[in-house]
Amino acid sequence: MSAKTVPPPLILDRKFVVPLLCGPGPCAYWPSVTEALAKPVITPNCDEFYNVLDDIRAGLQYVFQTKSKLVLAMSGAGHSGMEAVISNLVAPGETLLVASRGMWDQRAIIIANRLGKYNGIKTEITSVPSNTTFSMEQLESELKRTRPEAMFITFGDSSTGTIQNIERLGDICHKYGALLLVDTVVSLIGVEFLMDEWGVDAVFSATQKAFSGPAGIAPVAFSALAEEKINNRKHEPSFYIDIKLLANQWNCYGDTRTYHHTLCPPMLWALRCCLQEIVKETLPVSWARHASSTAYFHQRLQEYSIELFVPKPEERLNTVTTVMLPEGYNHLEFHNYMREKHNILVLEGRGPTLGKAIRVGIMGVNATKEVADKVADALADSIQALRK
Ligand code: PMP
Repeated sequence: MSAKTVPPPLILDRKFVVPLLCGPGPCAYWPSVTEALAKPVITPNCDEFYNVLDDIRAGLQYVFQTKSKLVLAMSGAGHSGMEAVISNLVAPGETLLVASRGMWDQRAIIIANRLGKYNGIKTEITSVPSNTTFSMEQLESELKRTRPEAMFITFGDSSTGTIQNIERLGDICHKYGALLLVDTVVSLIGVEFLMDEWGVDAVFSATQKAFSGPAGIAPVAFSALAEEKINNRKHEPSFYIDIKLLANQWNCYGDTRTYHHTLCPPMLWALRCCLQEIVKETLPVSWARHASSTAYFHQRLQEYSIELFVPKPEERLNTVTTVMLPEGYNHLEFHNYMREKHNILVLEGRGPTLGKAIRVGIMGVNATKEVADKVADALADSIQALRK
């Protein structure tokens, strides 16, 4: 085919107006992250480059609240962390118990089932209604019944707007010989999370939510128990997400700086910059800022008599709120009106909230009362304007 057959697409010059990003992610960047993304690329074979990896690991130990050495960032979105945690820690023939209340644990089930087709991993599932969370009694009795090698649970769930209490879950899992694997993609930085204190064995997150950075790099951390299993395992997970090899690239033990795959420098500069901002603010201040701006947002919604999907205040996530879509409203029409009239991007429900709720993120740099006011007023206006 000649280059004359398909003319150059003029569409590539299309301009777009950047909305206020108040969906369940991605979130707006810290201004310093925009600058960091534009910094020059340097060769991976030099101290400056490797020092950035060391800096990032120290920042991640802080945000996960862990002294573990096996802490690094996967080259990929949150899903790469999910795949890595499951593939590295659940061996062929073993059982993964998934505590399911939303869309993300469903993804864990899909990943485990795909692995299971060729290596015999078994999946057990326990669930609760999607607008609630698990009691420790239910999780303990499921551990007793299924005797899994690992349990997967989502800490903050962006499809339902719930936060799961996991403070005692590590001890309970260990009592039954299971490792605890936790998804903190939409909760880390926005909600208190203490990996070591709570006995979490493997955790993954993502940078486009409360981190206020770009999507495409996924922080992960592993406890001493998980590390022992990884180092003594007989199976080999997919090469690209093999934590044993990545630990060498990321110099986790202080004596290896080996090539595994080409890391993306702008993503590393951006993640390092997010971590600098978080360290500057400090975690307790960030957790409190998310808690107070989201509580204020809920109060504003209640003033407008707008209903929330999660009935119990203590089970509501501090980063993403699921707002009930009143009877007779079309979620796509609603979300388009919010964008066109108010230039605010919120998203429709997903998984169990599809067609039932609108998902609103007051998180990262947008976790402020000013943003909460803007979104609450726009939601109330949209409900009024689209009333049939
Ligand atoms: N877990 C949770 C709780 C999420 O909110 C998301 C993304 N919305 C994911 C996992 C998947 O992350 P990613 O899209 O970055 O792969």
